Amino acid sequence: MFDNLSDRLQGIFSGLRGKGRLTEDDINSAMREVRMAMLEADVNFKVVKQFVARTKERCLDAEVLDSLSPTQNVIKIVTDELTELLGRTDSKLVLSSRIPNVIMLVGLQGSGKTTAAAKLAYRLKAEGHSPLLAACDVYRPAAADQLETLGNEIGVRVFRGDGKDPVAIAEGGIKDAIANLRDVVIVDTAGRLHVDEQMMEEAQAIKRAVKPDQILMVVDAMTGQDVVNVAAAFAERVDFDGVIMSKMDGDARGGGALSIREVTGKPIKFISAGEKPDSLEEFHPDRMARRILG
Ligand code: GDP
Repeated sequence: MFDNLSDRLQGIFSGLRGKGRLTEDDINSAMREVRMAMLEADVNFKVVKQFVARTKERCLDAEVLDSLSPTQNVIKIVTDELTELLGRTDSKLVLSSRIPNVIMLVGLQGSGKTTAAAKLAYRLKAEGHSPLLAACDVYRPAAADQLETLGNEIGVRVFRGDGKDPVAIAEGGIKDAIANLRDVVIVDTAGRLHVDEQMMEEAQAIKRAVKPDQILMVVDAMTGQDVVNVAAAFAERVDFDGVIMSKMDGDARGGGALSIREVTGKPIKFISAGEKPDSLEEFHPDRMARRILG
């Protein structure tokens, strides 16, 4: 992920390094190239526009242009603005004092929700919690079986209820967690291939019934610009507190991952780069920005 963007940006900066002193024209043309590179990485158009405008304004400052190492300063500014775009500071998962805590996952089918539920459970277990997984995706064939298999693999209890009514399963999961002394319930909900009314209504109904402490939206990093529309629809209809960005190990251009924070205002909390239960990592905007800029 981001390989092309990374190469392009590094190429632009090495061009600037060769110049020594920088003029306004140098900055303008470098920023045009940055703009092209980001658009080609499939970053949302508005996000690119704002990013380039902010970065260019800071780079055109006389103090930057007249400094001893102007290119270094330009790179610093771009890194800083990219960090800002990705959310500036880390946004850790903080559990409330309610027991059991309820974390609800939403997102499109195939986004990686079910695997993310297991990865989150694995992570919480490693931190000393005793999570329970509630299998509320009753439509996708084998979703509950998949969750059960993953649960067995990581030693986490899975509640399936009657396998029919997602609201009843979520509520039953909480009762089961209380009865079995589990302190966190992770609710895996059903997604569809596209945003649709029934999916949103069902997510709203589960939300009303179990009043989650937090809702995390699982987003496939391989999705390009469309992620913006999907996330906006979820933000409007169910609202969510943060994002789990899955499939960061893919070779997509990464535009969705770079756009989502700016477009939704919601922080990326975790990224996952693999199918295994231990492949969920906390997201650090500064590290990601530095990785992209090399
Ligand atoms: P759901 O429909 O949203 O529940 O999606 P799933 O959890 O079933 O994931 C869909 C597919 O993506 C499965 O084959 C997963 O193994 C795969 N997957 C999920 N997360 C990742 C990831 O971070 N990296 C890779 N390479 N594959 C993933």
